[in-house]
Amino acid sequence: MIGTLNHNSKEVTIIGAGISGLLTAYYLDRRGYRVTLLEQKQRAGGLIKTSYSDYGMAESAAHSLIATPPVVELCKDLGVELIEPKKESKAKYIVRDGKLRRFPLTVGEVATTASRAAFVRSTNGNGQTLDEWGRKHLGNAAVEYLLTPFVRGIYGVQPEQLSVAAAYPSLSVPPGQTLLSSMMKKQKQRSRKKEAKKRVAPRFGMGHLVSCLSSRLDATLGPRFQTGHSVKVLPDAANLILTTPAYAAANLIEPESVELAQSLRTVRYTPIVSVTVFVNRKDFTRAVEGVGALVPACENRKCLGILFNSSSFADRVNDESNVASFTVMMGGTTQIEWLDADNEMIWSTVQSELLSLLGIREVLDLVIHRWPQALPQYSVDLPKVWQTAKETWCATPGRMLFGNYTGQISLRGMIESSAALS
Ligand SMILES: Cc1cc2nc3c(=O)[nH]c(=O)nc-3n(C[C@H](O)[C@H](O)[C@H](O)COP(=O)(O)OP(=O)(O)OC[C@H]3O[C@@H](n4cnc5c(N)ncnc54)[C@H](O)[C@@H]3O)c2cc1C
Repeated sequence: MIGTLNHNSKEVTIIGAGISGLLTAYYLDRRGYRVTLLEQKQRAGGLIKTSYSDYGMAESAAHSLIATPPVVELCKDLGVELIEPKKESKAKYIVRDGKLRRFPLTVGEVATTASRAAFVRSTNGNGQTLDEWGRKHLGNAAVEYLLTPFVRGIYGVQPEQLSVAAAYPSLSVPPGQTLLSSMMKKQKQRSRKKEAKKRVAPRFGMGHLVSCLSSRLDATLGPRFQTGHSVKVLPDAANLILTTPAYAAANLIEPESVELAQSLRTVRYTPIVSVTVFVNRKDFTRAVEGVGALVPACENRKCLGILFNSSSFADRVNDESNVASFTVMMGGTTQIEWLDADNEMIWSTVQSELLSLLGIREVLDLVIHRWPQALPQYSVDLPKVWQTAKETWCATPGRMLFGNYTGQISLRGMIESSAALS
């Protein structure tokens, strides 16, 4: 979150009711602020929505989140039941040479990676991309088969497009330390704090979290929570929090700060096509259980990664013994053409990817979500945008920016940031 509240007033107007706007409204309302929340669409939730096919549920964006204490407390208060992953589904896969592998590196590559992590000392890493960081601390094989698939799966981009400082500040290795020594130090601190790192999902999907937040705000804000209200001009308010994407915030801020508007427009977004498929278990040619599979760019496949929905969590399909569900992520910065592909083309491509990677012969049904601007790119230029915001519009108390481009892309990060706001 960028900026601070104006503590001389308890009035706050929030523009945008995606998850970041809903959370901000929820926490400030609980702390006694008189909140007004304005959303342009008829439905709150922004990217997040759970839809249903005849076979089960399909998430449009977030599927799961990390159960830190603020996450658990929020869901308890809203009556959102969180479920843990199935015990038998721990396996994570990666594609190497066209096949799923449990651990992607050869013995020699592991030795190189380990010795780099243990011996290569860091120098000042400001402005370093994840690719530069990875090649220095882990070596080339680990970049291709550990880092690339991981960040493609999460951000839809390549490591050379991500800034370590912006996307993974915890990976910054202090000058003079090695990656291994710095990780061991952080691990010690974490176990002292007993940080919970369990992945969970709402039993009835992320849409249930959004609808519980919306219902709570409907009840507490009444007519001050308006959907179908597109804000074109910034209202006069002592506290104004913009929780829209960066490009929408730029249009609203332009009359008050051309400099910040121009800077916000430099934030690039990655396109993602998320395809949830339902398949008949009888069509499996081999057992497929686990969390999911990541796909390195050098494998030249049509997908970025595959989430094994029904094998990870219960209640993702209506008939667990006969149907399974997966979400195939496509697009990203390297294959933007999938945004314009028609449904038949996506269907046949997903079917052939599932056949060759998982041995699944036929797709029963699929639900496609196309996001032209899905996720902000945490590039080396993003911290400059944050700095411009702090020095211009957000320098005035009561002028704030919050969303998945302001420092936290995950729901867990957003819940923690908005819970800390007072
Ligand atoms: C495919 C995919 C998978 C993901 N998986 C995960 C996951 O598993 N776990 C996880 O933690 N995160 C995940 N994420 C990330 C997470 O879902 C997003 O970061 C988050 O939902 C973004 O929320 P937001 O409120 O910042 O933005 P948005 O959802 O974009 O909300 C912004 C809102 O502002 C409104 N708005 C814009 N302009 C105006 C205006 N002028 N007036 C009024 N309203 C306006 C919009 O209509 C919208 O409702 C995933 C994202 C994607 C795309």
